[in-house]
Amino acid sequence: MRGALRPHGPGTAALAAARSWGVPGRLGWLGTARRLLVRSVAGADSQLTSPNSGKYRDTVLLPQTSFPMKLLGRQQPDTELEIQQKCGFSGLYSWQRERKVKSEFCLHDGPPYANGDPHVGHALNKILKDIANRYHMMRGSKIHFVPGWDCHGLPIEVKVLSELGGKAQDLSAMEIREKARSFAKAAIEKQKSAFIRWGIMADWNNCYYTFDGKYEASQLRTFYQMYEKGLVYRSYKPVFWSPSSRTALAEAELEYNPEHVSRSIYVKFPLLKPPPKLASLLDGSSPVSILVWTTQPWTIPANEAVCYMPESKYAVVKCSTSGDLYILAEEKVASVGPILETTFEVISTFSGVDLENGTCSHPLFPDKVSPLLPATHVTMAKGTGLVHTAPAHGMEDYSVASQHNLPMDCLVDESGIFTEDAGPELQNKAVLKEGTDVVIKMLQTSENLLKEEKLIHSYPYDWRTKKPVVIRASKQWFINITDIKTTAKELLKTVKFVPGAALNAMVDMLDRRPYWCISRQRVWGVPIPVFHHKTKDEYLINSQTIDHIVKLVEQHGSDIWWTLPPEQLLPKEVLSQVGGPGALEYVPGQDILDIWFDSGTSWSYVLPGTDQRADLYLEGKDQLGGWFQSSLLTSVAARKKAPFKSVVVHGFTLGEKGEKMSKSLGNVVNPDVVINGGKDQSKEPPYGADVLRWWVAESNVFTEVTIGPSALNAARDDISKLRNTLRFLLGNVAGFNPETDSVPVKNMYVIDQYMLHLLQDLASKITDSYKQYDFGKVIRLLKAFYTRELSNFYFSIIKDRLYCEDESDPKRRSCQTALAEILDIMVRSFAPILPHLAEEVFQHIPYIKEPKSVFRTGWINTSSIWKKPGLEEAVESACAMRDSFLGSIPGKNAAEYEVIIVIEPGLLFEIIEMLQAEETSSTSQLNELMMASQSTLLAQEPKERPADVIELNGTFLINLEGGDIREESSYKVIVMPTTKEKCPRCWKHTAESADTLCPRCAQVVGGK
Ligand SMILES: [Zn+2]
Repeated sequence: MRGALRPHGPGTAALAAARSWGVPGRLGWLGTARRLLVRSVAGADSQLTSPNSGKYRDTVLLPQTSFPMKLLGRQQPDTELEIQQKCGFSGLYSWQRERKVKSEFCLHDGPPYANGDPHVGHALNKILKDIANRYHMMRGSKIHFVPGWDCHGLPIEVKVLSELGGKAQDLSAMEIREKARSFAKAAIEKQKSAFIRWGIMADWNNCYYTFDGKYEASQLRTFYQMYEKGLVYRSYKPVFWSPSSRTALAEAELEYNPEHVSRSIYVKFPLLKPPPKLASLLDGSSPVSILVWTTQPWTIPANEAVCYMPESKYAVVKCSTSGDLYILAEEKVASVGPILETTFEVISTFSGVDLENGTCSHPLFPDKVSPLLPATHVTMAKGTGLVHTAPAHGMEDYSVASQHNLPMDCLVDESGIFTEDAGPELQNKAVLKEGTDVVIKMLQTSENLLKEEKLIHSYPYDWRTKKPVVIRASKQWFINITDIKTTAKELLKTVKFVPGAALNAMVDMLDRRPYWCISRQRVWGVPIPVFHHKTKDEYLINSQTIDHIVKLVEQHGSDIWWTLPPEQLLPKEVLSQVGGPGALEYVPGQDILDIWFDSGTSWSYVLPGTDQRADLYLEGKDQLGGWFQSSLLTSVAARKKAPFKSVVVHGFTLGEKGEKMSKSLGNVVNPDVVINGGKDQSKEPPYGADVLRWWVAESNVFTEVTIGPSALNAARDDISKLRNTLRFLLGNVAGFNPETDSVPVKNMYVIDQYMLHLLQDLASKITDSYKQYDFGKVIRLLKAFYTRELSNFYFSIIKDRLYCEDESDPKRRSCQTALAEILDIMVRSFAPILPHLAEEVFQHIPYIKEPKSVFRTGWINTSSIWKKPGLEEAVESACAMRDSFLGSIPGKNAAEYEVIIVIEPGLLFEIIEMLQAEETSSTSQLNELMMASQSTLLAQEPKERPADVIELNGTFLINLEGGDIREESSYKVIVMPTTKEKCPRCWKHTAESADTLCPRCAQVVGGK
C-alpha cells in the first residue's frame, strides 16, 4: 500500500539539493532564518522521565554522574573555595603569562581607592574586568593585568585625622603620613582578599600601589617631562577651595548639592564718574547707581569692577519709591522692579558700549573705585545684566582682571576666614557664615542694599567633607591643558568607546575643564619636587634636582621629602650654587600632587613594552571626568599618545528600586554577605561568588545596575537551571568516549545534527558578544539555549534513545556525540562568567582523564561542517506538526496516541520522509520528535479511519536556496488513541500486551 501512495514527483534539482543535507562539503538547503519560538507544548514532556522501576530497571541506561544537582547552604561557598584550591586559581595568571603565545591583551586596572571595605561597586568593576580577561585568555592571548590601588590623598588623611580627634593637631607631617599609610595598607588587604575570593585572576603578589617608592619615582619623572615641555606652571589663580579640608580641589572632587541655600542680594554701586557717552543723559539732579545681583555677598569686599555686555541694551530707570536713577539691562527692567517691590520708569536706553570708561564707588568702601568693564561672560539669564567682579573669587572675574590689570587680592584665608586685610569688622569671620551676615549688615549701613532673599540652587560641595566650597585665589601649580586638550580630542577619535556615547561625554568633560590645578596643601601624597627661595618669589627645579630626588624616592619612598634635611634633597653640584649646606637659600615646597595626577600617571609605571598602551580601560562612568581623563591628559602631555585603545564604561550600582545605596536606607549590599550569607541565613543565604558574578554579567552595565534580594535570587535560580542542564549532560555522557564512540556528523540523527547546527550558531554569537563586552547578551543567549532548545525540546525527546537503546547503538552514540559537544561548548561559554561552576563541571566530565582546569584548555571549538541551515526546514516543519499534535492533547501523555501525517506529494513530503523511511514506525526520527506511540506518513488520506479521531490541518512554507525555492504545502495530522499497550521497560505505548516487551526492547534485552 505504501508503495502506491509514494509520490513519483519531479526529480527536481531542489529535491536533490534537499537530499544533500547529510553530506558534508555540499551546499545544503539555505533555510530561512525563521526560528521556532515555542518548541514545547503543555503535555509534551515525555512520560519516559524515569523508567526505573520494575524488573527491567537494570536494563535501562539511566544518567550517571556524581555532579550534585544542588549545593545547599554553605556547600556553595565551600565548594567554590575547594575549587579555587584544586584548580589552581592562584597560579592561573602566572601560568598563562609563561605560555608561548604571540598575542597579548592588556587590561589596565584603574586603581580603587585604598579606603574602606570592599563593596558591590568594586565587585561590578573587578568582575567585569575578570570576565574580559578570562575570555581573552581562553581565546589564546597572554593577559597583562596588574591590579593596583590608589593610596594617597585627602580622604585617607581626613579619615585618619578625624579618628585621632584632638590629638591630630599636634602631629607632624611624618606622623600623619605613617598613620595614613597603615590605614591604606589595612584597606588594601581587606579589598585584596575580597577580590581573590571573587575569583579575579591576577598575580596578587605583584600589584601596583601609588605609595610605592618606584611608582612615585615614575610619577615624578612624568611630572618633570611635562615641566620641561613648559606645560607645568605656578600661578596665582582662583581655584575651588574647600575651607573644611583647607585645600584646593579639582572639579572631580566636587559634588553639586541642588538644595544649597544662598543669600542672594541686590546691591547699588553708586556711579562715580559717568561714562562720557552718557554724561548728557544724567543731569546730576538725582543720584545714579549701577544695579548688581550676587548670590555670594561675602565676595563684595573683594569687588574690583562691574562688567557689562557691550552688545546688549541697557536702560536708565527712575525708581518710583526712592526717586533714584538706576542703570541695568533693558530686558531685566520688567523683572527686577517687582523683585525690589517698586516700579521702574525707563528714562532712556542705550547700548552697552556706552558704559565704557565709567566708574562707580565700592558699596562698602566709598574711597575705592570700581571701573565699568566690558566682558563676554555676562549673561542675561539671571541678575541685572551687570556683573559684580571679584577677581580672587571667580574664574571669569580673574580673566577680566588679568586683561585690565586689576588687583587680585584675596581677603580670605585657607580656612575660609576673612583676613586682616578685609578690615576690622570682617577679620576672623567665616565667609560662608557670620562673614556673610556682617557684609549684609555693612551694606545696609551704607544704604546700598536693595534686597536680600534666599536662593536655592546647585552649589559645589567638597565630595569628602560634604561641606560647601568657595572659589579662592591662591598660588598653585597648574598644567596648561589648552593644547593638550586639542591633541587629546583628536586622539580620542581613534579610541573605541563602549558604549559609543561615552566618547561624547568624555569630550564634554574635557571641554568643561579650564585648567588643571595639580597642587594640594596636604601631606599624604607625592611632593611637588620644587624648592622655594626663602625670601624671593623664585623656585628651583631642573634635571639635576629631579634626577637626585627621583633616585632617593625610588629607593626610600617619598617620605624623604619630610625626613631628610633639605641639603640632602639637593645634589652636590646644585647645592654649591645655592648657598651650600650652611646657608641654603631654598626650602622644599610644601605642596603635594593632586591624587588624580598620582593615579593618572599609572600608565607610565604599569603598562608594558615601549608602546605602553593598554588594549582596554574599563571603569565606571564617573571616571570620564576622573581617571580616564587624567590618564589621557598626562599621557598626551608626556608623549602625545592616548594610553588606551578602547574604553568600556559601566554604570553605578543602585538599590533594587533604583535608589542610591546608603546606610540610612539599609539597602547597602555587602558582597561578603552575598557570598557567605548574613546573620539570618533564611533572609540572607550564602549565594557564593558565582551568583555575584552572574549578576554582574547579566546586568545591563551600560546604565545603572540594580542589586538586591530579588536580583540575587533570580541569578541563583538561573544558575540552578543551568546546573540541572549540565547534570543531564554529564549523566548521559557516562560510558561515552568521544575518541572511539563518536559518530561522524553525516551519520548522525537529523535532530542531533540540527543541535550541532544550533550550537555552531550559538558559539559564534557568544564569541561575538564577549568580543563586544556585552556579557548580558552572553547570558541571554545561554539562557535561551539551555531552557528552550535543550530542556524544553531536545532533552525531552532523546530520553528514550539514551535510556532504552542498546548502550553502543549508533542511534544512542549519535545523541551522545551531540551531548558531548553541547557540554563542551556550554562550559566554555560560561566559564569566564562562572569560573567556579565551569571548573566543577570540568572535574566531572567522565572522559577527561586529568581534568586540571578548563581555563588551560582554550576556547570554544566548533566545526564548519556543523553548519547546515537546510536542516532547519526539516526540523521546523516536523516541529510544526508536532506542535499541532501536542497542542490538541493538552495535559495528556503523547505516547498514548498515534499520529497519521498526510502530506500531498512534493517537497515537504520529501523532507519529512527523510525522518521516516518506513510508512509506519515507532522508532523513527519522526516518531521520536512526535513523541507518539507510532507515526504513519502518507501522501494520501487513508480511506478508513476510526470515528473519534482528531484532525488537524496546517501549512508549511518551505524556503530553500535563499528564497529561490519556495513551496507552500498543506498537511494533515490525524490523532487517535493508540491500540498498543505500555511496554514495561521503555513505557512507550508500543507493546502488543501489557506484560510483553515492545519489539525494540525485546531486541535490546535479548541481545544482552
Ligand atoms: Zn519498550
